[in-house]
Amino acid sequence: MDDPALMPLQVRDRLARMARVDPGGLARLFSLSSLEGDLPARLLHALHAALAHRTIAHARANVPWYREHPEYSRWALPEGYPGRPSELLAGLPVLDRTLVAAAPARFAAEDTALGALGHTSGSTGTPLPVRRSVEEAEFTAAYFAHLSEPLARGGRRPISLNLPNAYHGTPLRLPAPGLSLSSGVTDDLLLAETARAVTARYDLPGYGTHVEYLSGLVNHVLLLTGHLLEQGSDPGAVGLRGVSVAGGTAAPHWRRFLRAAWGCPVTDRFTLTEVVGGASRCRRCDLFHLDPHVFGEVLEPGSSAPVAEGPGRLVLTAFHPFVQMQPMVRYDTGDLVMRFDNGCGPALAFEFLGKHGRAVSLEHRGRRRWLLFPAELNAVLAELPDVRAVEWASNVRSVHDRTLGGLPYARVRLDASCRPPELLVEVELRYGPHFHSARAEEVGARVAGRLRASAGTALAELEAGGAVRLRVACVPPGSLPEPALKL
Ligand SMILES: [Zn+2]
Repeated sequence: MDDPALMPLQVRDRLARMARVDPGGLARLFSLSSLEGDLPARLLHALHAALAHRTIAHARANVPWYREHPEYSRWALPEGYPGRPSELLAGLPVLDRTLVAAAPARFAAEDTALGALGHTSGSTGTPLPVRRSVEEAEFTAAYFAHLSEPLARGGRRPISLNLPNAYHGTPLRLPAPGLSLSSGVTDDLLLAETARAVTARYDLPGYGTHVEYLSGLVNHVLLLTGHLLEQGSDPGAVGLRGVSVAGGTAAPHWRRFLRAAWGCPVTDRFTLTEVVGGASRCRRCDLFHLDPHVFGEVLEPGSSAPVAEGPGRLVLTAFHPFVQMQPMVRYDTGDLVMRFDNGCGPALAFEFLGKHGRAVSLEHRGRRRWLLFPAELNAVLAELPDVRAVEWASNVRSVHDRTLGGLPYARVRLDASCRPPELLVEVELRYGPHFHSARAEEVGARVAGRLRASAGTALAELEAGGAVRLRVACVPPGSLPEPALKL
């Protein structure tokens, strides 16, 4: 290669046209693209372009829905790419869950064999069946095995403990760089066994002597942590090197709590059943970055205009050969995110704002203005001991996982029949607010203050102009339907 600046373009053209993609080779290219600098960033765009070409060529040849859409037959790799990532898929239709769920068979490729069936949780609407082929499971397993190879080399391999959840059908098994143990927290026997497994010392040749990594849904990891503390165990004495939490937005308060309790870094992980991959919170900028093999866009709600900075809907594309049986090109995740152009690496950087359908906005003088993002409400409520946010499972005897897909302690409504429209936020306290009225007022004022100060919303401005009124009402235990607020 004479000119290194041309390398990304050469990689793009070769990868777009090769007959079969080698998972190890692709893992090495994506690892290179994660390095600092301009050349890796251009390499990442080139890899995305090549994989977009392969994905679309496969989908329009083998998948009925894509075959019948004229935008797909017209799509071609942009000349001179790497250009702007927002141009790569511009013009192609944006899919949403309702569209795919209405006719899932039309999104299934005819050239692959069914290996597994998953589904979305259904907490935010119709569950979407997700078909996975034998070939894509093999490719994905080999790809991640190559990615984690440097971690596995030399020394003792780590032991990790995973708290899987059974909410999404056939689990996708990804290789961990050591020994992966599985357990759970959803009944008291299982919880006692998990507490034993995480605090035990192991004597396994070639492996570490204790659990070094813990991962699971944030509520499950909180439950385990609370249980250990209640039993008089010090989680910090386990010697974990990392905790990874998934499942919606983990409020900053809970991330700080877990970091202090375990004495190690806590990584937020966002994953989606429909797309193999997701996003992780970055230790440098504290925002989420997408995995390099997933292509992300942030678009205006209600249009397909790209958002360079600010709130918008997160639209993801899963590339062939990671996803083969049910290609998802420009899939609207239903999540609202705040996009930042912060210069930290080439991958899309964003913060979660919550489910699009649960955010509140108002049409004001012909423009959509945001009033409330569920993640901000979640963040302030997590800081208030007056709200029973997590002890729903302490002293566990039987656990009803009330938090799946929602928060059981807040409800939000916009009443447009009032003048001005009223944004009512009801917060369920662990006590009757009348018993401690001064404290209840403090809680209400704190929640209101945070919502008015929430970046990306126009609540304070519109309230000052008399266009909307915020009312935070504290209500007694048990007075809200469950789950009341979905993130
Ligand atoms: Zn970052």
